Amino acid sequence: MPNDLDDSPSGFSTPENLALVRQLIRPRFTHDIHDYVLEGICKAMDGFHVISVVRTGGGKTTYFSGFMVLLQEMEKLSEDHPLKHSLERFIPTNPLCIIIYPTKGLEEDMVQTFNALGIPSLAINEDTLKNARNRSIDLWALATQPQLRCLLLSPEQLASKPFNTALSIPSFYSRIVALDVDEIHLVLTWGAPGFRNSFRDIGNALMRLPRWTTLTGVTATLPEGIDTLSLMRILGLRSGSFVFTRRSNHRPELQFIFRVLRHGLQGWSFPDFDWALNGQRKTIIYCRTISLAFRLFVYLWQTSSPSNSPARRKRSRLYCSLYSDKYNKTSRDIFVNDVSCQFLITTDALKVGNDFPNVDDVINIEPEDPSDILQKGGRAGRRISNSLTTGPRCINYFTQSTMKRAKEVLKPGRDDSSIQELGPSNLEQGSQGKMTRKMARLLLSDCIDKEIDIQFANPETDPVCTCEKCSHLHPLPRSMVDCRCSKCQPEPPLPALPQKAAVSRVGNGIVLAKKLTEVEREYGLRQLSAFCRRVWDASRDISIKYLPPESLLPDCLIHSLLNEFAKLKTTADLVPCVNGFLKGNEVPLMSELNSLQRKFNRMRIALDPNGDDVPVER
Ligand SMILES: [Zn+2]
Ligand SMILES: [Zn+2]
Repeated sequence: MPNDLDDSPSGFSTPENLALVRQLIRPRFTHDIHDYVLEGICKAMDGFHVISVVRTGGGKTTYFSGFMVLLQEMEKLSEDHPLKHSLERFIPTNPLCIIIYPTKGLEEDMVQTFNALGIPSLAINEDTLKNARNRSIDLWALATQPQLRCLLLSPEQLASKPFNTALSIPSFYSRIVALDVDEIHLVLTWGAPGFRNSFRDIGNALMRLPRWTTLTGVTATLPEGIDTLSLMRILGLRSGSFVFTRRSNHRPELQFIFRVLRHGLQGWSFPDFDWALNGQRKTIIYCRTISLAFRLFVYLWQTSSPSNSPARRKRSRLYCSLYSDKYNKTSRDIFVNDVSCQFLITTDALKVGNDFPNVDDVINIEPEDPSDILQKGGRAGRRISNSLTTGPRCINYFTQSTMKRAKEVLKPGRDDSSIQELGPSNLEQGSQGKMTRKMARLLLSDCIDKEIDIQFANPETDPVCTCEKCSHLHPLPRSMVDCRCSKCQPEPPLPALPQKAAVSRVGNGIVLAKKLTEVEREYGLRQLSAFCRRVWDASRDISIKYLPPESLLPDCLIHSLLNEFAKLKTTADLVPCVNGFLKGNEVPLMSELNSLQRKFNRMRIALDPNGDDVPVER
């Protein structure tokens, strides 16, 4: 492995060899290779580790596929070809690349992409292993076949026993030529203790692979400074052994918008998002919790009209880790291919990868930090020709308490250690959790784009790319284009929210003696949850089966029923306390409440054997 990076290019990195490599691999791709990707591939061929920061949609996958295609094409060259003479590193026979992808969905998408490019590939994760076992196929045995060129793994597999066993087979071990890592910044974030520690082991894994193995890592969101230095340290990359390149992650077509929420996120009503229903822009909505994603999903479903049209059911899909991978994959396919599916409501489960070709808007509710905004915003605007008058947008919503918190975080005299001690982020309680200084600075900045440029050390201009695609583009210099972020061009005031009926949790006219005790409420909650499950089980309505059982009678409505318990005497009294999903089940619900009342009466008598306290009658 080279120890010094001198300025004069050698090996595959000379201008002549770069041109030869482009010529050699170009026919295998439907698009030309960006200059910077080509340079990265050639640096890897020269034996360097390569870490590249490239904007989303900037050709990150080609760093991996281009390298593998080059290895295949090299095998076809005659021994006197100039590239054969330029090879300074060892390339084994039947070379094998290992690629780490952060999500199973991404792995499965990519295995198809690579196979379509003529690179025999296999994905190993817990799902593919399970499927293979059911069909009595040994995936790890397939992984050691000499014709395989690319093994896609989840980081967890690097520490697994079968992978270690495979490494002990000389014919497998000696073929490994590269370890590639997609979204390599996740080593820092997801690799944090307690989440997916195996991301931190990627550096250790590199040590265990043959000495000639090169690492290529790509990301769009690696902040400058301490983050970059930490990443190199965790990966164990010594100075001189790697090439680090940073291109701007700025995407001029993407508009960043910050909005302050005018309602909380705890309930079931989200009128701040009603505007999205008035259009047909393909939108991914990112929520910080599954609970919020689900409640927003129900709200948009209920608010969509006309209420009985089949289109209403198709309009939103919920994508989260509670669903099977198969269901989530179907949701991704429907969102991409079915025009009637407008919203994909999700969590961090869909944060990375997944190059959707047709997203107009990304809505981020309470994004965690600037990287989070960039990563998720990167899903928008991959359309090649966007006929919409408004371009792709990344619309971020923050609660008022988050905005207040940003000011506190940046108060003079406050140090970072005090920020870390403020407890875990808890959105349901009003965002009184952690906030990084970077996030606070972005929230209070005068220009979102400018602050992102500073935090990610975006170069003012990137070196010109001469590839077929870029040479047709003639973007104006940044300084000549007006920024369209919502700080530079404030939005007109948003329409007023509909007046909501005042709901008072206290003072509902029920005397203290008739209010339920904590024990009774707990018992009631359990019984009514079980009732809800029974109704869902018995239902034959497909629109109900499409929803989780809890949607019929969510906890918040059960609490309303228990708050009003003493007042509920007829099915008509139930109306304010149930939603449309429970329609037609008012009589069984009333009977369930009556049965609860009898149980409570017995409980109260048992607690007071003298019978001084008369059981409460409804
Ligand atoms: Zn280019
Ligand atoms: Zn701006």
